[in-house]
Amino acid sequence: MVEIRLTNSKTRRKEVFEPIDPSNVRMYVCGPTVYDRAHLGNARPVVVFDMLNRLLRHVYGDDHVTYVRNFTDVDDKINATALSRKEAGATGTLEDLIAERTEETIGWYHADMDALGTLRPNHEPRATGYIGQMVAMIEGLIAKGHAYEAEGHVLFSVGSYPEYGALSGRSVEDMIAGARVEVAPYKRDPMDFVLWKPSSDDLPGWDSPWGRGRPGWHIECSAMADELLGAEFDIHGGGIDLQFPHHENEIAQSCCAHPEGGFARVWLHNEMLQVEGKKMSKSLGNFFTVRDLLDQGVPGEVIRFVFLGTHYRKPMDWTEKKRAEAEATLRKWYDLAGGAPEGEVGGSVIAALADDLNTSQAIAECHKLAASDGSGLKATLRFLGLMGDDVPDWVDSGTVDLSAQAEALAAAREEAMASKDFSRVDAMKADLVAAGVEVRMSKAGVELVPGPGFDPSKLQGLT
Ligand code: AMP
Ligand code: ZN
Repeated sequence: MVEIRLTNSKTRRKEVFEPIDPSNVRMYVCGPTVYDRAHLGNARPVVVFDMLNRLLRHVYGDDHVTYVRNFTDVDDKINATALSRKEAGATGTLEDLIAERTEETIGWYHADMDALGTLRPNHEPRATGYIGQMVAMIEGLIAKGHAYEAEGHVLFSVGSYPEYGALSGRSVEDMIAGARVEVAPYKRDPMDFVLWKPSSDDLPGWDSPWGRGRPGWHIECSAMADELLGAEFDIHGGGIDLQFPHHENEIAQSCCAHPEGGFARVWLHNEMLQVEGKKMSKSLGNFFTVRDLLDQGVPGEVIRFVFLGTHYRKPMDWTEKKRAEAEATLRKWYDLAGGAPEGEVGGSVIAALADDLNTSQAIAECHKLAASDGSGLKATLRFLGLMGDDVPDWVDSGTVDLSAQAEALAAAREEAMASKDFSRVDAMKADLVAAGVEVRMSKAGVELVPGPGFDPSKLQGLT
């Protein structure tokens, strides 16, 4: 069996992955808050953990992996969006408008993430479907002395859990200094965080032993993971921005509610997609959505390829250069894969992924497959989520025709053979290479292939 190694944020080490139960490998990933279209940064964890899901399925079998990714559908931003629509004259109750908004957003999310070649998880629980489990978990925490009620709120008592902060390796003092910890009169300690809060009459709420209210964000993941994966499971993933406080809080809640469990054994965090050195985020306003790119004609496979080019633990930028290179490489591979022997998923590609999801190495291995007889390339591209059953449609529609340039170059070469003056041939070659075209000249003729970095605009004016 292939040995998978993963960098566990909890131990800060690369470890051999040993599932609790190889017949049911279990993974939970924090999903989106569904109030708006996903931006490109939001898509990064989706692609990263899709790759891990695919690897686990390859190694342990399709029916032996349970992948859960939630939808957070209880949130102030969702309420605010619905409220502003109501104020703008939309008909229906606020509850209807909230339901409409979440439904619509989940539909967009599915369409956008499907376009990136990501497989749907086995379970996509919505927080609103698990309120009963959240209430039960909170009651258990109160009973064990880990939580307390104050003015309609229930708070987790951070002081009751000495291991708090172990995941991010921070001291409580650092956490208070570094985070915008909300100070509230009903908190015994500024670090304590909300498990349950009251809802005003005009906002969604559920009955509970503490009055009508709604859950805090962190308890949602703890309750859904427990219900669907049990008190102990293999992998928990999400972006590094969630490590503190969200994941620390999930651990505190789950480990205190189920001390027999231990919650997730391996924690994986993807680094951020950046724009000029800053995290892409809605609040900074420096974002564009996955849909924006798709609408501009950037194929999902190209977006996915660009993501795979950077290791998940490194920050990355989206650049036009990467897009162009990804497209040129994929065109070349699709062309090769069409005529190559079927073969199997490349073992070297699996080995690269098994080494802490080294996706850029996996791409390097694909280049090697492509450079040999292309055998296995098709199966590998399918496995990597870069191709469905067939080559994607966009490949044909935008194929560049370099035959005119190839003919001109062949004619120039013929003249040069007679005149022994190759300067014009060399200049033409240099122009083509500068435009990112690979020039192959042999006795049989001239072949021009768009290479990585191919830029059709640079061909204009060349003869
Ligand atoms: P949110 O809806 O903001 O809670 O984010 C959903 C997921 O996207 C979480 O796993 C975040 O860690 C992740 N995420 C948000 N912004 C970025 C970014 N710029 N780069 C990578 N991941 C991100
Ligand atoms: Zn979560």
